[in-house]
Amino acid sequence: MCDCCETNENRNDYDLAVIGAGSAGFSAAITAAEQGAQVALIGHGTIGGTCVNVGCVPSKTMIRAAEAVHAAGAASRFPGLAGDAHVSSWGNLIAAKDDLVGTLRQKKYVDLLPEYNGITYLEGVARLTGNGVVLNGSNIATGKIIIATGSSPAAPDIPGLADVPWLTSTTALELPEQPRSLLVIGGGYIGCELAQMFARTGTKVTLVTRSRLLPEAEPEIAEALTRYLADEGVMVRTGLAYSHIERRDGQIALTIEANGKVETLDAEQILVTTGRTPNTSGLGVTEAGIKLASQGGIEVDDRMRTSKSGVYAAGDVTGRDQFVYMAAYGAKLAALNALNGNSLAYDSTTMPWVVFTDPQVAGVGLTEAGAQSLGFETKTSVARLDQVPRALAARDTRGLIKLVADKKTDRLLGAQILAPEGADSIQTMVLAIKFGMTTQDLGATIFPYLTTVEGLKLAAQGFGKDVAKLSCCAG
Ligand SMILES: Cc1cc2nc3c(=O)[nH]c(=O)nc-3n(C[C@H](O)[C@H](O)[C@H](O)COP(=O)(O)OP(=O)(O)OC[C@H]3O[C@@H](n4cnc5c(N)ncnc54)[C@H](O)[C@@H]3O)c2cc1C
Repeated sequence: MCDCCETNENRNDYDLAVIGAGSAGFSAAITAAEQGAQVALIGHGTIGGTCVNVGCVPSKTMIRAAEAVHAAGAASRFPGLAGDAHVSSWGNLIAAKDDLVGTLRQKKYVDLLPEYNGITYLEGVARLTGNGVVLNGSNIATGKIIIATGSSPAAPDIPGLADVPWLTSTTALELPEQPRSLLVIGGGYIGCELAQMFARTGTKVTLVTRSRLLPEAEPEIAEALTRYLADEGVMVRTGLAYSHIERRDGQIALTIEANGKVETLDAEQILVTTGRTPNTSGLGVTEAGIKLASQGGIEVDDRMRTSKSGVYAAGDVTGRDQFVYMAAYGAKLAALNALNGNSLAYDSTTMPWVVFTDPQVAGVGLTEAGAQSLGFETKTSVARLDQVPRALAARDTRGLIKLVADKKTDRLLGAQILAPEGADSIQTMVLAIKFGMTTQDLGATIFPYLTTVEGLKLAAQGFGKDVAKLSCCAG
């Protein structure tokens, strides 16, 4: 029996209506169908949403291609090797990316629908009404609702921006021709990833940000990444105020103020990566009595409930933890709670996050400053990659690992890694923190030699001893 949206006949066609057919929407719909529910999955735009179409998949394959170009040029760090690679056809690269996107969209979204008898896919722009959902002029009679409408690129408040053409992460990954020069505005993870990708494939890139790169990362990590990007030729400018933006001499020119000086930076194209806005406009959220949080996302409690009984929300539209696996996780909980009585709580305390630069940045848990602001007395250990045999063998010692622990209990509180494939190593720290390991426990754990993940053991041992004085694998 519904508690938000009964029809006059007091009968629902669906147990659950899911608005948005992206990762969160599919996760909610499949979870509910597995429970035996009848689900209306309402999609608008390209099925599959952000991750497969314009987010994770296209960006990561382009980043891998750029890594291949870079790796050839970087081979000469081994005496006796020389290499060179370049983009011979940007158009072919984009076409191959589109092909991958199309294949994964078909396999991971479209082809799944017939596998679940309980899911009815409906196309159109859904809108909430006082007592349910309206689609294409008809009421959808449903027991519960999950809003999973995702997010869109945000536009910063820079005077003149509305009068110049600018790229978003979506359109930048669709460019038919590679830009000669690019000004990336915004130093979050999408800005850093795409700036490096374009630079490595041959675009002259300037990356600007009001604060510093990756404001969520440990300062040591952000500072090192800034240096590595600069070493590769990306001009990184941090700590700026944006004055205005205009067309000038066939270029787009951004006037900035930094350290009391006014300066103009220009490029053939501008890419804006200053965050994502939750997709709530036109949905009728506030009219339906659903509260928005201060950042504009739909406010949910730890059970994924909105302020309106029977209506849940998950994924980017909540404005928090905007990663695809968190969208899927939150949506799964929302579906189970909607159908079975709200017993499951969302917990992101050991949520890993990754920035797919090279070296990658990955983290979990609290930063040193974050732990201190919660009242912990902290201790930290930083292991540079030049202490990690794997990095020495690879002749690539860019990076570091920082661990944060509670001084009183020795329990690990947080970890960040800046290392090649650091994303794979962070999962060890997810488990270590989730299951309450101490720095002693981690330092005494057996790790394989020579691996990057072994750096975690060295960093853990670094709390008690000088790891430079250890023999290979000792300790
Ligand atoms: C460039 C880029 C790179 C990224 N890389 C990664 C990565 O490497 N790893 C990672 O974990 N995350 C990554 N992300 C984030 C990830 O893509 C998102 O967190 C995730 O896709 C959000 O899923 P969602 O289901 O909440 O929203 P979406 O996937 O956006 O789905 C929402 C769907 O709802 C539809 N919709 C909106 N309004 C309505 C309506 N009224 N009626 C019907 N349908 C509607 C939309 O059209 C859309 O199809 C990246 C994002 C970007 C932009």
